[in-house]
Amino acid sequence: MGHDAPYLTPKAIAKRLKAKGLGKQWLYCQMCRKQCRDQNGFKCHCESEGHIRNMELFAEKGDQLIEEYSQRFEDKFMEYMRRCYRSTSVPPNVVYNQITRERNHVRMNGTRWATLSEFVEHLGQTGKCKLEETEKGLHLRFLEDPDHPETQFKEGLKRKRASGEAADIERHEREIQLQRERCLMEVGAKGEKKEKSQGLEDEEDEEKQDSVEQEKDGKDGGEEERAGPTGDVKVAFSFSKKKSSNLPPLPRPPAAATFGGSIGSSSSQKAPPFCWLSERLVVKVMAKKLKSGAYYKKKGVVKSVASEKVTGEIEMLEGHGEVIRVHQSELETVIPQIGRSVRVVNGSHAGCDAKLVSCEEDKFSVTVEISNGPHRGSIVGGLPYEDVCKLSSPS
Ligand SMILES: [Zn+2]
Repeated sequence: MGHDAPYLTPKAIAKRLKAKGLGKQWLYCQMCRKQCRDQNGFKCHCESEGHIRNMELFAEKGDQLIEEYSQRFEDKFMEYMRRCYRSTSVPPNVVYNQITRERNHVRMNGTRWATLSEFVEHLGQTGKCKLEETEKGLHLRFLEDPDHPETQFKEGLKRKRASGEAADIERHEREIQLQRERCLMEVGAKGEKKEKSQGLEDEEDEEKQDSVEQEKDGKDGGEEERAGPTGDVKVAFSFSKKKSSNLPPLPRPPAAATFGGSIGSSSSQKAPPFCWLSERLVVKVMAKKLKSGAYYKKKGVVKSVASEKVTGEIEMLEGHGEVIRVHQSELETVIPQIGRSVRVVNGSHAGCDAKLVSCEEDKFSVTVEISNGPHRGSIVGGLPYEDVCKLSSPS
């Protein structure tokens, strides 16, 4: 290229350096912030009136000035670390080279550090960066400074969000409480009426169920566990029983009502029974009688759910992956390790998938981060073990 030759001549380089304001460090006067082009120029500058005045100032409070320059240099350096190398390690001279590209940067010889390595050592000692010995030499790693305004701002935001969520949760709990009380009052009112008719219906149901069971037993060789209508009630009530500890004692209705509506009741108003099972849940089988307890406390994945009967087809994780049909009252939720996927199976977030954030073993509860739906990203705490269940990865 034609212009390459003049581009690389010393004169041309010096010209460009001048234009950029950069020159040899030892020809720079930090006090006057003046870059001289050569030794002669620097000598002339040193004799200039302005420089002499500045040097008198320096003689008076040199320490203070050096401290100020040091601080400015360090701030600049750390700003680069924060902006560009927050999450990676970097050799110190890479950052230094970036700083020196700026026209009016504080020169190293204006600070209290004689060399870059001395400065780097200072960063390590004051806990601003972590020094790492690597194959490629010393590297710096940025450490978060809790006093930095940016860090504080972020912390503030985090706290705000957390308190907002706490308020949300509290409001939600109150709503649920109100709803529950209303339900209980209704149940109390209807309870007497239903008691009379219920006896008959239960018998009918039991008969039907028996005949169904006998059929199944014939096919499956007795693998099926008995799951009568009373089973539905047991599970449906585990929610209300548990949470009503701070409420007046339940006027326990005759096996009829839940929040979802009534179950096992008259055919004229058939509401679906409360079913917490759903596909992909990892559950623990608690049926002791099933195949002489062969599946007791073993885990399996829910393959499909017959929500009407509140039973699930469970593919066992151990053994030969047998598929068994179990009523939800004889299944327990499984709590996975922190960070794994779960599904909320009960309460206001029921049906939401989430990530397990923490496990409060003393309270038998967990905290999750919702990962889908309108509440995506919100942190929900205090969920009882039975309201959250491990989710197998989608196949
Ligand atoms: Zn000067």
